[in-house]
Amino acid sequence: MDTIISYTTNNDGYRSNGRLKVKGIMLHSTATPGIMAKAFRDRFNKPGLGKSVHGFLDDVCYVQCLPYDKKAGHCRYAGNDTHIGIELCEPMAWQTDQEYFAKVYENALQLVTGLCVQFGLNETNVIDHAEGHTLGIASNHSDVGHWFPLFGKNMDLFRADVARRLAGRRADIRMLQQALNHDFGEDLQVDGIVGPKTLAAAAKHLLRYKRGGKYMTGKYVLWVQQRLLGKGYDIGGTGADGKYGKHTADAVRRLQTAASIAKDGIVGKDTLQALVNA
Ligand SMILES: [Zn+2]
Repeated sequence: MDTIISYTTNNDGYRSNGRLKVKGIMLHSTATPGIMAKAFRDRFNKPGLGKSVHGFLDDVCYVQCLPYDKKAGHCRYAGNDTHIGIELCEPMAWQTDQEYFAKVYENALQLVTGLCVQFGLNETNVIDHAEGHTLGIASNHSDVGHWFPLFGKNMDLFRADVARRLAGRRADIRMLQQALNHDFGEDLQVDGIVGPKTLAAAAKHLLRYKRGGKYMTGKYVLWVQQRLLGKGYDIGGTGADGKYGKHTADAVRRLQTAASIAKDGIVGKDTLQALVNA
């Protein structure tokens, strides 16, 4: 799944909405079959619409439309003050297209798990629009309940899937924190949550490719390599060897391209965040 950050700067919400302190994630689906994420982003990039979302997701990409520290207008009521709003795009044959559904469901799992890691949430903080209405914080819509059950899914199953992924991710992040403590004498709490201190450590200890065989080495390099491999990035024939060589730097550039951040092959704060979110 590619991530495209393309803010809807012409949407009124971009300028006028207040700051969001993220307490949860609300899933929607567009109920507009056949319009995919990039096209939907363009539809929302205009004034006078009266609504806005943090992002649109389809079977191949996620288009982030608003920064997460800005409120979106996705559910009309109090949910806008607390929840990130994500719209899943529906395909033309939304009732029968199993292949599309499987892909967008997997992409939603990846995205939501990454957001839970980023904002210190857990699966119980993830709801859909219909559940938001039941909780009294959203307008009366049925999404995604009109769609998921057609393919044997529902929000309880989605949350159970998120919980499984989160357990794996937190274990992975504890290893990252242990590596930063080990390699650089940091004193990070090994809590499995990437907070400001973990990111500050990454900003302080940049990983970069040095020519002439003087590779940077260590457990942190190894962690970065294993995370790249786990996400399907080729890091060269020697694999995860704990040396920050040219192939590892190239793989980091590809990750940076996919995450729409500066493409310098150096692992700092933003790249670590992208690795964690990937
Ligand atoms: Zn909705």
